[in-house]
Formats: sequence, C-alpha cells, structure tokens
Amino acid sequence: MATYPYAYTPSIFPGAYTTAQPKPGAIPAYPFYLQAIQQLPGASQMSDTIKNALMLVGQIQHLPRDEAYIRQLGVDLIFKNGAEALNLILQKQPRVEFGDMGDSKAHAQWIKEQNLIMINQKYKNNSSREALYAISEAIYHEAGHVARLGDNQASIQEETNCLALNTLANRFHAYNDPAYANSSSDSRLIADGVALYPKLFFDSDPNKQGLVNRIIEKYGMLPPETPDHPIPRTPYGLSLVDRILRQIQQNNTMQWVA
Ligand SMILES: [Zn+2]
Repeated sequence: MATYPYAYTPSIFPGAYTTAQPKPGAIPAYPFYLQAIQQLPGASQMSDTIKNALMLVGQIQHLPRDEAYIRQLGVDLIFKNGAEALNLILQKQPRVEFGDMGDSKAHAQWIKEQNLIMINQKYKNNSSREALYAISEAIYHEAGHVARLGDNQASIQEETNCLALNTLANRFHAYNDPAYANSSSDSRLIADGVALYPKLFFDSDPNKQGLVNRIIEKYGMLPPETPDHPIPRTPYGLSLVDRILRQIQQNNTMQWVA
C-alpha cells in the first residue's frame, strides 16, 4: 500500500481521481495537449517515451495536504499543477530530448542556451510505466527552472523549489498508483532519484536533517538565492533554506576548528 498518511478528501479536486490510472498506451488523452506536443520543435523525432512523459506532466496534481506541508517548510511552489508546467513548455517551446550527460548522475538538465530540457539518455530504453512516471517528475523539476527568468543561474532556493515539484509529483503518482509506490525497481532513476526526495521532504524529523545534508551535498556550492527565487520569509522560525545556510556555516566553522 502507498503510505499516504492522510485521509484524502476528494472534493478538493473533483473528478481528479476518477479516471483510470495512466499507463503507457492508455494515458487518458487530452487531445489539445497531444496536438500541442506534436507541434513542439523536434516532435517528429521525439520518442514516444518523452511524448507520454509530457502527457503525464500535464496531469500532475498536488495532493492538498502535501502542498500545505511543503509550503510551510518555506518552499515557493513554482506551479499550481502539472498543467501549468506543460503550458509553459508549450509556450516557451524548449526541445525535450534524451542526451548524453556524461558521468552526471542527474536525471535531467535545463540548458538555456539551447532551449533544451535534456533527459539523461541512460533512461532512453526504458519505457516501463515506472520510468514514464519518473521521467515526467524529472521534467516537472526542469520546467521549474524554465519558469520565471528561465536562466542558467540556479541557487539553493531555486533547486529546493524545483525539488519540491518532483517530490509532489512523485507523491501524486504513488498515491494514485500504489504499485509505483511499492516498486522494488533497482533503477537508479527511481530508487536514488525521484523516490529519494519524497522520503527526505516527508521525513518525520522536524529538522529535516537528511534533506538539509542532501541539498548541501548536491547544491551547497550555489548562491543561496536568485532574484526570481528569493528565500521566503516564514513567520514561524527558519525556512528550509535558512536551515541549510546555517548548517553550511556550522560545517565551515567545524572545518576551521579542525
Ligand atoms: Zn534542478
């Protein structure tokens, strides 16, 4: 079973959960999106995997309690839902393609100069349902970077905001499709990737120490904030990124003493 800790109140998103679970080949068709995706640059060479993943992006909803929880951590959610992200992609028309990311462990990357959302080609030959979910979650994250200024200048706050997007998308998919939540897939895309951040964001530790350490490890070298992704001032104590900055300071002090 999915470990969704709350009683879900369907009335908040009427109808959102009544459709069949999306499956490759049986994704509920939104003809407008499909048509628009076909018109994206490079669509004629776009793999079905990416087209299906984009369709899934358009369907992502934030589970209401998840969203409230994430917001109170001091995260600025860039999109209300996946439809907003897909609309942005349809407007800004980045290419979405598999590409060689070398030794990078990243699943995807936004490259502004090429107006390109690159998906790690390691995942190219995996068109399982799990992989489609995971790729759609990675695209949701990258669409967060495309939004607002859409520049290459990331920050700890911006990455945190984008990580929250793939986290919410993963929770949504896992809630709707318990088989995905329980998938014992050894695919790194899932185990070490999209399934990791939901664990860290929803860790019962109120200090979110695991998440703080992970973000420092991956993004600690970035500036704290960027003009389009300022650190939110929360009325109740330190925001997540404030906590990250304090931890970085402590780590530096400890190195100095050592
Ligand atoms: Zn990112």
